[in-house]
Amino acid sequence: PLRVEAVVESAMRRLPQQANDMHTQFEVNVAEDTPLIYVDKLRMEQVLVNLFTNAVRYNTQHPIIRISAHADEHFVYLDVQDNGIGIAAEHVDKLFDRFYRVDVSSRSQSGGTGLGLAICKGIMDAHGGEVHVASKLGEGSTFTLSIPRFLGEENGHEQEENHDRR
Ligand code: ATP
Ligand code: MG
Repeated sequence: PLRVEAVVESAMRRLPQQANDMHTQFEVNVAEDTPLIYVDKLRMEQVLVNLFTNAVRYNTQHPIIRISAHADEHFVYLDVQDNGIGIAAEHVDKLFDRFYRVDVSSRSQSGGTGLGLAICKGIMDAHGGEVHVASKLGEGSTFTLSIPRFLGEENGHEQEENHDRR
């Protein structure tokens, strides 16, 4: 079992150069008592790196990424909100399809393959979780990950450290 914030923080350390070049600003607001999650750490980091990279790439201003979490009985919900260009409603259903890109003219500019979100969806599926998006064109997007809670006994953070050292 892992702390959400630990996963978020290691993903933030693995950002592409573009994110540093654009002085990406993070506002992380994850409460201390957020339930632990049971995930493959590297793969969950990959999901976050993909979302952060999109938040920077599909943005025309100083990127601000706001991360917050809430939970219910079964899931932790992690919101990744950006101040990017947003996504028109007509594209939202296809966004997680492999090779789907909204604007073909942006292809040369960014060089993406359109696999990032398909991979995110695959990884969330494998965990028994989900990924959804809410967006408004010109205002920004919020991607929400539902991540299964760790439902076993919590032995402090001892287990987490063992897991990290594996
Ligand atoms: P790759 O991630 O494989 O390098 P990609 O970024 O084009 O390529 P996805 O991450 O799957 O592929 O995203 C698909 C498309 O969804 C993008 O091409 C872009 O048009 C749109 N998109 C994704 N994230 C955002 C975002 N945060 N804001 C605006 N548009 C986005
Ligand atoms: Mg991408």
